[in-house]
Amino acid sequence: MQNGINSPLSEFFRQFNITALRIPSIRITDVIDILLVACLIYVIIHWIKETRAWTLFKGLFIIVVVSLLSYYLHFYTLTWIIEKTLSVGVIAVIIIFQPELRKALEHIGTGTVTGITGILPTTPSEGKISLETANEIYKACVNLSAEKTGALIVIEQHVPMGDLAKNSGVIIDGDVSAQLLQNIFVNKTPLHDGAVIIRNNKIAAASCILPVTQKEIGQELGTRHRAAVGGSENSDAYVIVVSEETGKISIAKEGRLKKGVSPQELKSVLERIADGGKSQAININKLWKGKLKK
Ligand code: ATP
Ligand code: MG
Repeated sequence: MQNGINSPLSEFFRQFNITALRIPSIRITDVIDILLVACLIYVIIHWIKETRAWTLFKGLFIIVVVSLLSYYLHFYTLTWIIEKTLSVGVIAVIIIFQPELRKALEHIGTGTVTGITGILPTTPSEGKISLETANEIYKACVNLSAEKTGALIVIEQHVPMGDLAKNSGVIIDGDVSAQLLQNIFVNKTPLHDGAVIIRNNKIAAASCILPVTQKEIGQELGTRHRAAVGGSENSDAYVIVVSEETGKISIAKEGRLKKGVSPQELKSVLERIADGGKSQAININKLWKGKLKK
């Protein structure tokens, strides 16, 4: 008898017929397929965690558990009600998540899928503003902050915000200068209420009403900050807020608000928007964790 033939290991292999197991051949397309599915699952989980979908997901999970229980315990009336509710559930989900779905489609339409996924650094702008414009915005914000004059400045990126300007604002189409920006926000002047929209190195419009977020952003913050977050939720724009109450500068991007940004941080962000993120991609996650250092 050969050594090892009846060893426990060979017995194990024989019993479970492991020697007959074949590793299936893997083609390159299979690898790509698996990677794409993994990315898709990551994006969906990320989206669920980042949006109101998380609450909905928990709600759906409870409904599924309750419906399974009622089915196995033969609660006919409860099962019937749950079945009927779920049949309209798909339409309800589409209605509830209309803003998120719209935003996702807009991102895909503008080729900034990475922006939604968060896998890669936030897609940089295509240098929509020049360094001079960035500098003028910076000077205006610092001066407005020192004077405690409230301001709301939207720096448009890929998603056009023209409808906001047309429907609620006053078209200006003027060159960006710190003086003009400061002038617009002077209290009690006709254009000071609402947001200024900056597009392609121009002050496109002033007095624009932005959509207000429904998210919890902090008791101490009012409608100006809510409008900043709302504006950034519905587009890929950067929205800068100067608080009238505290003089603090905050930046909203992708529905998140970085409160109390230092002039240094503001300068870095503006320069990188101007640069189109060429020198270093704007890593919003880092900024939001307060790690962005020039
Ligand atoms: P602040 O710190 O400057 O007081 P806040 O977050 O507490 O800001 P409010 O005090 O409510 O906000 O600020 C009101 C001002 O915010 C309004 O006068 C108007 O200029 C601006 N604002 C409010 N809602 C909107 C909106 N939907 N779109 C654009 N601007 C808005
Ligand atoms: Mg206030």
